Amino acid sequence: MAVCGRFAPTPSGRIHLGNILCAMLSWLSVRAKGGRYLLRIEDLDAMRCPRSLADQIEDDLQWFGIDWDDGGSAGGESWYQSTRSPIYDRYFEKLEQQGLLYPCFCSRAELHAAQAPHRSDGTYVYAGTCRGLTPEQIAEKRKHRPPAMRVRVPDRTVSFSDGCQGVYTENLARDCGDFIIRRSDGVYGYQLAVVVDDAEMGVTEVVRGRDLLESTPRQLYLYERLGLPAPEFYHIPLLTAPDGRRLSKRDGDLDLGVLRARFGRPEPIVGMLAAAVGLRPTAEPVALAELAADFSWDKVSRMDVALPSEILQR
Ligand SMILES: [Zn+2]
Repeated sequence: MAVCGRFAPTPSGRIHLGNILCAMLSWLSVRAKGGRYLLRIEDLDAMRCPRSLADQIEDDLQWFGIDWDDGGSAGGESWYQSTRSPIYDRYFEKLEQQGLLYPCFCSRAELHAAQAPHRSDGTYVYAGTCRGLTPEQIAEKRKHRPPAMRVRVPDRTVSFSDGCQGVYTENLARDCGDFIIRRSDGVYGYQLAVVVDDAEMGVTEVVRGRDLLESTPRQLYLYERLGLPAPEFYHIPLLTAPDGRRLSKRDGDLDLGVLRARFGRPEPIVGMLAAAVGLRPTAEPVALAELAADFSWDKVSRMDVALPSEILQR
């Protein structure tokens, strides 16, 4: 099967340095193999994601040296998740027909009170409060509040080999719990949308931040239940401040608006990122396309990488 990768930004703001690293590595991985590259706009929360911001992302990517073979505004409406609900409906029904879904009426406050502590990706392990509601209880609760829909997960250990992080293993029931497929406002959850879109668009490799590693077993479970082929995963290191701290506001706003104004051209930024993740020994400016010829995942750091102080200077 031909290699196909994608970049799938959420246009709720200007593209950030961490996002551009993700775009850079996913693009290099695909171009090094002569594959196809797609741009999908993840605007499920359409109110927070105006088209003007999506258009700005396209402009920033092109400035950086990233092109795509399909998707984005030139590809048409179907590349925006906010238009794809009828497609998600079909897969939602497949899960429902298997008896895997149930309504959850828990409020945010109840979830906070009843759940296990935060996982690193910001989600909770659901305690199963609504798993055993009777039809009568459900009918009564529906009068007061529209439910979210959750998918049941089995007590099963899922293991996969990540192209960057190596083998990762998790127990679905213990480490994840039943998770949201559709929110109470009717918007589909990220887990379902990303699985359906990557499968329908023929994506064979997914490159994203290491902070999403823990969501992958949930997605592999959905691929299996929906009878869809799962892609390869590459969870890339996160960027930190020079002393190893998570980047914060006091490091300045490292978005492409600021960086374009400061550097004027992409090559110094490409060079710094390439050196930071291990693709090049030094941080000399370089055009992105020049890195494709000898790109290899073997060179990419598994550990989080500290940015050089030059890039943080205001
Ligand atoms: Zn619940």
